[in-house]
Formats: sequence, C-alpha cells, structure tokens
Amino acid sequence: MYIGNHLSVSKGYEAMGKAALELGANTFAFFTRNPRGGKAKDIDPADVLALLALTKRESFGTLVAHAPYTMNLCAAKPEVASFSKNVITEDLVRMEYTPGQYYNFHPGSHVGQGPEEGIRRIAEVLNEVLIQKQTTTVLLETMAGKGSEVGRSFEELREIIDRVKLSEKLGVCFDTCHVWDGGYDIVHHLDEVLEEFDRVIGLSRLKAVHFNDSMNECGAHKDRHARIGEGKIGAEAMRRVATHPLLAGLPFILETPNDDEGYKREIALVRRWSEA
Ligand code: FE
Ligand code: FE
Ligand code: ZN
Repeated sequence: MYIGNHLSVSKGYEAMGKAALELGANTFAFFTRNPRGGKAKDIDPADVLALLALTKRESFGTLVAHAPYTMNLCAAKPEVASFSKNVITEDLVRMEYTPGQYYNFHPGSHVGQGPEEGIRRIAEVLNEVLIQKQTTTVLLETMAGKGSEVGRSFEELREIIDRVKLSEKLGVCFDTCHVWDGGYDIVHHLDEVLEEFDRVIGLSRLKAVHFNDSMNECGAHKDRHARIGEGKIGAEAMRRVATHPLLAGLPFILETPNDDEGYKREIALVRRWSEA
C-alpha cells in the first residue's frame, strides 16, 4: 500500500521525504509552487538527489506532484492562458529532476465557453507542451463539477485524452470526493463505477487516487473534502476503495482537512485496512 498526504516543497525535496517518513507515509504529493500563485523556487539538484536516495531506500511509491490551482489550461483570458501554459511548461522541465513521477492537474474551468471549447483548448495546450522524451506522466484529475469545471465526467476526460497526440504521457487521478460529488455512487456501486471508468477511459490510465471523504451528497458538485469516515462517503465505503483489487499498488494521497497528527492517524488506519 502506498499512502501519503500533501507536503510543502518550501523546505526542500529531501525535507518532504523525511516529513513523509515521520507520518508513516511511503508516497506524497506536493505543489510544484504556491498553489495559489506564481513563481517556483529554483531547484537544488543535490537536494533532489537526496530525496531520490531516500525514496529508493524506503521503497516509496510514485510521487504525485500537483499543479497550482491558478493554472487553467482552457482560460479564455489571454493573460491567464499564457500564464497557465508557462506554468505547465516550466513544471514539466522541473519534474524531470525526479524522473518517472506523476504531475496531476485540474483540467480547467471553461467559464462560460462551454465544456466542448474547454476540452478543445486543454488538449491544444497539452499538444504543445508534452514531449516525447519526458519521463513524467501527466494526470488529469476527476473533478466534482463545481462551477464550470471540465472533467466532471469520465467522458470529458476521455475526450481530452482522445485529442492528445502523445496520449501515452497521460493518465488519470481518481479523486474519491470529486467522483462522488460528480454523481458516481462509490458507496453503493463501487464495482460498477470502476467498470464504467474502464469502459470509458480504461483502467490502465488510472495512476493515482486522491483519497478524501466528502462533506456533501453524491452528485452535489460541491467539492468539500472531509476526514476519512467523517463525511457522506463514510469509513466502510472508503475501506472498500482502499482495498479494491483494481486499485492495488496505486499511490493514495490524502487531501483531508487535518493536522500532522490527523494525517498520521489516517495513514495508519488505511494501512491497517490494507493489511487486514
Ligand atoms: Fe486536486
Ligand atoms: Fe484532489
Ligand atoms: Zn477537491
């Protein structure tokens, strides 16, 4: 079982590896830069090498970097569009310091342009920035469908993937809160939801799980994460996700509202489930 949470890159790469170990984690997520902003810190290659030695020694799973929320690949505003394309271009260069990991992003918000135009624009940018020699797999995150989010259904993600030439560089991150809020009933019909994912996208694309309970009902399109077992999905359904054979071996990333002690507890809980 690979389980971890989001860690801050601000103290450096090796520091994230050490923080993960302290929480009992064996993978983690990190924002490539301030999630709400701007400029990324320069990478210290020696620091990254120290992290790679640690993750190898401790048999970590694949890391799941996260693009900033301000990156919107289907933005209509030219300044947001060019900022977003710069961010993903730069981030994919930075990601090659940690070869073979995942870079997850929210497909985008179409803000009145309609999902079709959003999908077209997202694929267009991906076609410009993905390159053959990159070792990073770029993950599209399943979205709750809040506002004008693109990626609210498996079909929308499939449509993006279909339009991308280097689609072998693409995968999907399954966010349990978002999928539930998006209207997929993983409490009563987990097997059917995974079957549908397989039919529409293909399970071979499923590379990571964001493991969150939800404060809202199935189909609410709200996107408010809850601690494991404290939301509408509930402990039992979360346990079935964590132990589902089709999801075995994927990195599970907690994005629950917690402090370090809370994450320690949730990591230990998910481990107990997986070992039972
Ligand atoms: Fe996300
Ligand atoms: Fe998420
Ligand atoms: Zn969310």
